[in-house]
Amino acid sequence: MSDSGTQRSRSDFDAARGLIPGGVNSPVRAFGSVGGVPRFIASAMGSKITDVDGNTFIDYVGSWGPMILGHTDGTVLDALHDAARAGWSYGAPTEAETDVAREICEALPSVDMVRMVNSGTEATMSALRLARAYTGRDKIVKFSGCYHGHHDALLVAAGSGLATFGTPTSPGVTRANTADTIVCTFNDLDSVRAAFQTHGHEIACIIVEPVAGNMGVVPPGPDFLGGLRELCNTHDALLILDEVMTGFRVAHGGAQSRFDVLPDLTTLGKIVGGGLPVGAYGGGTDIMSRVSPAGDVYQAGTLSGNPLTMAAGLTTLRLLRDTTVYERLEAAGKSLNEGLAPSWSKYRDRLYFARVGSMFTLFFTNGPVENFDDAMRCDQQAHAAWFHEMLSRGIYLPPSQFEACFISLAHTENDLRATIEAMGESIDAVLTPSKRPR
Ligand code: PLP
Repeated sequence: MSDSGTQRSRSDFDAARGLIPGGVNSPVRAFGSVGGVPRFIASAMGSKITDVDGNTFIDYVGSWGPMILGHTDGTVLDALHDAARAGWSYGAPTEAETDVAREICEALPSVDMVRMVNSGTEATMSALRLARAYTGRDKIVKFSGCYHGHHDALLVAAGSGLATFGTPTSPGVTRANTADTIVCTFNDLDSVRAAFQTHGHEIACIIVEPVAGNMGVVPPGPDFLGGLRELCNTHDALLILDEVMTGFRVAHGGAQSRFDVLPDLTTLGKIVGGGLPVGAYGGGTDIMSRVSPAGDVYQAGTLSGNPLTMAAGLTTLRLLRDTTVYERLEAAGKSLNEGLAPSWSKYRDRLYFARVGSMFTLFFTNGPVENFDDAMRCDQQAHAAWFHEMLSRGIYLPPSQFEACFISLAHTENDLRATIEAMGESIDAVLTPSKRPR
């Protein structure tokens, strides 16, 4: 990378902090858990991102998942130009919305109808409302460490015990907001059984990230998703797979096709908007027909199905139909995995690498990491030091231990080789005692 320092990012951050809470429009961007100056970005192209000081990095944030094609893809750019020339907001239906819906319904085995919204948060909030309306029940089950957006009912932490009612994790969320949210342990079916034993007839749905990405990448155990499906069947509850991150990421048909489990409702975001603001929720016709104006469950959005978002999303989804896409992403993920072998053999007791396709996390802990408690045992100081070592070697990673890194189709073999080399050196710098940065 070109090392042009951080002077301009630093002054941009100072200016932003006076006008925007914390200087950022979404908290993790502020580098709070790794320290230092968040890089203000000037441009991005392919696998690379360039900051306002002129430093260029190989990017594994990918706008937190959407940029699966890489940045500023030429075909998407052309589609955006064409769409913009025709006007970028009408508040009336367009053909592109039906085209995007068709792409989603054809790709996801469980989805017959889909409603577009503007964020993943809106998608999960609306799906929960629909599940409650459809079942006539109030309670919902979520898993600690899974993130589904920032709406009140889901900003909860587990209490102590197997399956507990959540306690609010943010001021402003009332106990009433979270009173119907039961928090269970990811990859632990017993905790879910306990919830159903006590509240079976009151539970509307389970919502789960099929591959958790918001405590770092945590894959589902072999029986976990199937077990959730069975429990929902037994107790007439709905299963919501939150595929905001995994949809079109871990397979063309999302985690539901990769792990062969059919949810009642699916929530989407990120990739389906090609990098523009988006969310979506869908499912079988019987359930989705309850959404207004077809049905009685109210949900609306001024900018939903926005023409620019639909153009970027549709073009991205069509490019992802190529059957080699997910093989190429898998191969890229595998090569990073294998490239870590030397570090792995040196620091087996301090590192754990988790990967599903092109999503991965290097945990600074003795694995395995199967749930939120395991993830919380990570050495976050070591992670922060590693993050900065990587940044200084030209690799831009999520600034938190509890996030997923994303490989795009634009990452080249050279990028991957450079990343593996940087990873090896950075891990040595952090974990070899004599080299530990001061
Ligand atoms: N669900 C999952 C699995 C997510 O990863 C996220 C965001 O990262 C959301 C929901 C919320 O999406 P948004 O940030 O678009 O509101």
